[in-house]
Amino acid sequence: MLTGYSAEIRRITIYAAICLVSGLVSGQLAWTLALGGGLYIAWTFWQIRRLDRWLSAGRKRSQAPPEASGVWGDILDNIYRQQQRHRKEKRRLQQVIARMQETTAAFADGVVVVDARGNIEWWNKSAELLLGLQQQDAGHPLVNYIRNPRFIGYFESGDYRLPVDLPAAGENDKRLQCQINSFGQGERLLVVRDVTRLYRLEAMRKDFVANVSHELRTPLTVIRGYLETLGDNEDLSPVWQKALTQMQQQSERMTALINDLITLSTLETDDPERDQRCIAIEPLLLMIKADADAFSGERDHRLTLNCESNSYLHGSEKELRSAFSNLVFNAIKYSPPGSSINIDFWTDDNGAHFSVTDEGVGIDPIHIPRLTERFYRVDSSRSNASGGTGLGLAIVKHALVRHDAQLQIESQPGQGSVFFCRFPPGRVVRNSADNVTPLHSRTG
Ligand code: ADP
Repeated sequence: MLTGYSAEIRRITIYAAICLVSGLVSGQLAWTLALGGGLYIAWTFWQIRRLDRWLSAGRKRSQAPPEASGVWGDILDNIYRQQQRHRKEKRRLQQVIARMQETTAAFADGVVVVDARGNIEWWNKSAELLLGLQQQDAGHPLVNYIRNPRFIGYFESGDYRLPVDLPAAGENDKRLQCQINSFGQGERLLVVRDVTRLYRLEAMRKDFVANVSHELRTPLTVIRGYLETLGDNEDLSPVWQKALTQMQQQSERMTALINDLITLSTLETDDPERDQRCIAIEPLLLMIKADADAFSGERDHRLTLNCESNSYLHGSEKELRSAFSNLVFNAIKYSPPGSSINIDFWTDDNGAHFSVTDEGVGIDPIHIPRLTERFYRVDSSRSNASGGTGLGLAIVKHALVRHDAQLQIESQPGQGSVFFCRFPPGRVVRNSADNVTPLHSRTG
């Protein structure tokens, strides 16, 4: 830099001296200096023009700068060096982008980049196949191409913790799992996965459990019938009487297990919207309380029910009854005789709430997150003794999910438990005058 500047200053000094001497010799000092200055300005313009031309040509192709000396040489060299650096950096970035695109193109999962306004920016080959995106779709809103209301709700909710499963457009037997991830300044990355195989396997599993449970019912009914007939025989020896009693108990347990398995598979497979109507809660809970009093029998638990008389929920009576009675019956099973059990139902701005509070054995909090898993038991010997199947809370959870509700458990060992069912405000029916359905007769 300094060399360029000093060379330029030397050049100007020598040029000014020449002009000065020429001016003095010719006796036209002022004119000579003016002419010299003008020539210098013209030369500077010429350099600027050369620089401009080179810059314009350089934008199209990489070209060495024109020869120049002094400060102009330095400027041209500096610009050229910077240009080279930028070109190198650009090439590197282009290679990274090309590599990224090659990698994502090789994904079996569809990837779609959506900008902050919800418009499609980029997608890979698999997204083209799974979602049917085409070249001309770039820049258009993603929800124009995935019109499923569940996806639109998910896309607009901003809550992307869990993926959403959808049938593929126009192909009902194909299932897609969509997971959105936020990044940058409001941009979103949609990952679409074909889960048809998993979905079919899951459907096969559900069908298998449902079929096996139904198939087991008939032989078990026959066995129970014969056991009952044999039990009536007074000539049997005490050894056989004992064996028969045990067989009867085990066949009853098996019946309960099969009934619970059937309930669970119905909850998994049936359309959630089926049988949904406005349910009057108070009569439902009165019925459950009466059943629970009978179940408690000589153990004489003190059950109390607090429920607003005009409480209504939009849902399935059968499923709600199943969920509520499982919780009330569990409270009886896991509480000492004579203890209190409170059943409450109330509504507020957050929705509707059902709770069962007992003074029973309680549960260590480490077990709570796993309680709704099938066959998970805190203490299997106690659970077996109480006649439990290990499916009760799984049924409760499934029934609640179908009502957009959540199960909340608060418990400490030896200090009793509280089981809450929290229903969102959308499930509460405020004006029920026209749409309450009378309770169905008991199904036992
Ligand atoms: P089970 O048929 O064995 O009762 P559930 O799914 O209904 O199965 O309950 C799972 C486990 O949760 C039970 O084995 C029991 O240990 C525990 N549990 C459920 N309800 C209560 C309660 N009210 N008090 C104490 N423990 C409970």
